[in-house]
Amino acid sequence: MKKIELLAPAGNLEKCKIAILYGADAVYIGGKNFSLRARASNFSYEDIKEACRFAHDHGAKIYVTMNIVPHHEDFVQLEPYLLFLEEAGVNAIICSSVYLIDLAKKITHRMEVHLSTQLSIANSEACNSFYNKGIERIVLARELSLDQISQIRKRTAVGLEVFIHGGMCSSLSGRCVLSNHMVNRDANRGGCAHSCRWNYRLKDEQDKEVLPGRMLNMGSKDLMALHAVPVLMDIGIDSLKIEGRMKSDYYLATVIKCYRELIDTYAAGKEINYQRLEEEIAKAENRETATGFLFHEVGIEEQVYGSDSHPTKEFVGMVLDYDEQTKLTRIEQRNYFKPGDKLEFFGPQLPNTQWIVDCIWDEERNILDAARHPKQKILLKLPFRVQPKDMIRLVLK
Ligand code: SF4
Repeated sequence: MKKIELLAPAGNLEKCKIAILYGADAVYIGGKNFSLRARASNFSYEDIKEACRFAHDHGAKIYVTMNIVPHHEDFVQLEPYLLFLEEAGVNAIICSSVYLIDLAKKITHRMEVHLSTQLSIANSEACNSFYNKGIERIVLARELSLDQISQIRKRTAVGLEVFIHGGMCSSLSGRCVLSNHMVNRDANRGGCAHSCRWNYRLKDEQDKEVLPGRMLNMGSKDLMALHAVPVLMDIGIDSLKIEGRMKSDYYLATVIKCYRELIDTYAAGKEINYQRLEEEIAKAENRETATGFLFHEVGIEEQVYGSDSHPTKEFVGMVLDYDEQTKLTRIEQRNYFKPGDKLEFFGPQLPNTQWIVDCIWDEERNILDAARHPKQKILLKLPFRVQPKDMIRLVLK
């Protein structure tokens, strides 16, 4: 079986490092310009260089998104930016503009060009057309079934990437002006306000509520395609993509670790415990999930109707460092916890490990009655070994 790539998103340098440590083979990031997700923190030039250094040191790759629908003014500084990305060691750009594709192919030589899902490529003829232009990979439209993906794989040699987890769009992958209309933020130039996920009241022509007291929502459930992963591996897909450059470091760590385990377990011919993986993802997932278009046509089950969903576990902190001698562990607090609470630690090398908090100190060694200040550095004394960037959840009693 050919090795499949697990591709994860990162909204900043810290998240990029976390994604790689938790098992991503490649990470896609956005620069300050030319990228959707304008509100994701995005990377400075120095951050991009550091992301490439870190990724390559860990055997991983960096892709940079340049997938806005560009207007004329967006092309300012485009050539030097492309040259900078190649020099920095970026492995590929992800784009959708035909002009940008041509320019990248003309002036860069080592960097691959991948086509964004914004192009909604859903057939092998389109794949072959772009393959003949020198495109190395195509991110297929999210609106395809596994059967359709399999047919495309059989009829094209271009690299294929498929979304397996994260937000879906109620329109055809971003071809939508709802956000522009509601808040003047362009979904195709990085500004989607997710207006489809807001709650609305339905009124008739007389301004009378049709469903009194009910709020309606047009958003689709997020994608979670655990069961599709072995099929996609058998089909011969090159890359499996997680969506979510705006997501937290805790969410990324949880989701990436689960898909890493799933891919490695299947590649090793071992049995997959889907229930355990679903329970793990639910600890960080903050939206309802479905399987999108992969197994059947979307219907009511894939739609959100004003319901709400929360992670089953709360993220309370991340390990900064651990002293082997004293067992003192410095953590950065993110949410409230106190002595007597049960915590669950996990990390790239650490299986889920539960522990009841006995004492909390601040950095001056004062005893605290609770960890109550987000981002405060606090100390715990742990009976097991942890590493920087291990995550900590609260286990409700
Ligand atoms: S508002 Fe909703 S449907 Fe429109 S682009 Fe954004 S996510 Fe897609």
